[in-house]
Amino acid sequence: MTASSSEASRPVPFTAFERRFGHPPGLLVLFFAEMWERFSYYGMRGLLKLYMTNYLFVTAREALQGCRQHTPQCALVGGDPHHVFFWDALSRFLPSSTSDSASIVYGYYIGLVYATPFFGGILADRFLGQRKTVVLGALLMAAGHFVMAIESSFFVALSLLVLGNGAFKPNVSTQVGSLYAPDDPRRDGAYTIFYMGINLGAFVCNLVCGTLAAVYGWHYGFAAAGVGMLLGLSVYLGGQKYLAIDALTREKSLPIHEKKPFTVNEKRRIGALIALCALTIVFWAVFEQQGNTMQTWADEKTHWPTLFGFQIPSTWFQSINPLGIIILAPLLDIFWRYQNRHGKEPSTIGKMAFGCIILGGSFIVMIVGARLVGDGKGSLFWPTFATVLYTVGELYLSPIGLSLVAKVAPARVVSMMMGFWFLAAFIGNILSGYIGVLYTHWSKEAFFALLTLLGVAAGLALLAFKRPLKSAMEQP
Ligand code: GLU
Ligand code: ASP
Repeated sequence: MTASSSEASRPVPFTAFERRFGHPPGLLVLFFAEMWERFSYYGMRGLLKLYMTNYLFVTAREALQGCRQHTPQCALVGGDPHHVFFWDALSRFLPSSTSDSASIVYGYYIGLVYATPFFGGILADRFLGQRKTVVLGALLMAAGHFVMAIESSFFVALSLLVLGNGAFKPNVSTQVGSLYAPDDPRRDGAYTIFYMGINLGAFVCNLVCGTLAAVYGWHYGFAAAGVGMLLGLSVYLGGQKYLAIDALTREKSLPIHEKKPFTVNEKRRIGALIALCALTIVFWAVFEQQGNTMQTWADEKTHWPTLFGFQIPSTWFQSINPLGIIILAPLLDIFWRYQNRHGKEPSTIGKMAFGCIILGGSFIVMIVGARLVGDGKGSLFWPTFATVLYTVGELYLSPIGLSLVAKVAPARVVSMMMGFWFLAAFIGNILSGYIGVLYTHWSKEAFFALLTLLGVAAGLALLAFKRPLKSAMEQP
């Protein structure tokens, strides 16, 4: 045991596993539970935009006019979005073009899945505790994935997923932090490992769900996502004994269970976290073009190679980012430790600002690509290189943000504050849908230049507020 925490303050008992691997076994349980959950979430999400634009929202007439022969689903187009429940009501608020509507629906979906974690956090902090809330979330999400198989229930399925993610995501994330005593220096490392689990799921899912969808049909891809979610739930239930006691259960077991008001310092810490979350909105609005316009670029403007006679589907594009995370996270960890030894490691907020600036910079690659590719199709290099760059940006912002929230938030509202972190992604992701609409209306160069500008501006804003935020967060 290398941690400085004393045996008495340990939230989980010390085991031989921990002596060997440096982290408690509960981390492995949460790693695999979240890996499978993200497999299901990103597996389904990877298909979502193309499912809408190439299939579900396409009327028979449009399909006959515009069917692109390289998508096997073209042959399956039944062609009537009007049989989808709630379509007639919702389509009144949507643009008339299929691709614009798909961008907006996509943005709302990936936004709303991050709105509910705030409520899922409250549910866990106040009523159910983290464990029960996670199980509830997993069941709702599995149901959502299977309901996707029924075309007419498309929006019902999305709603189940939105609710399920809200219960699942924040509470798994906070349980990682609860495995460690507050002063344990292994927390950041634990979150980086956990983030690699997220991305292992996000990497493999497109290869499985995207391939099943391309070869057998959309519904096989969605069903695979549902199976992934059930595997995640099994891992979670099987590993219960390795997890720390719920914050709620612990609080209830204290001799005097009273509601403590926040101290002034706690209020300052909460205020700083809220301000920081607000500043990350722009990051997500730009970053989430990945599954939206970047996926469209990968589909329409990129030559995909064949591998042993197998035509690689464009949905594999969304595996580049998670693969990059898996490879780059440990390298960056080594780099930060090297910087730390030389007293040069940036502060968390400094890192986040840098992350936004790299994110913006990555789209310069796409500006050049758009210019060179023109109206035809171009090399895989452009979206790949841009993705590698914004993946570095993501690593500078996202996992360390999770760790920061778990550390800075007062324990009795930690899940709710984690939900707050995800609320930034909620707003950012919805904005990403609206920004995505400009892709079809502006020149590609202008569109990518806007993304560059937004990323860099967010980074500069973070730098401007660095000092006051840092001092508020460091309050005991
Ligand atoms: N890609 C990460 C995940 O799905 C982070 C997403 C976010 O915070 O918006 O867990
Ligand atoms: N990198 C994202 C996250 O960490 C995954 C993705 O967008 O594929 O979850």
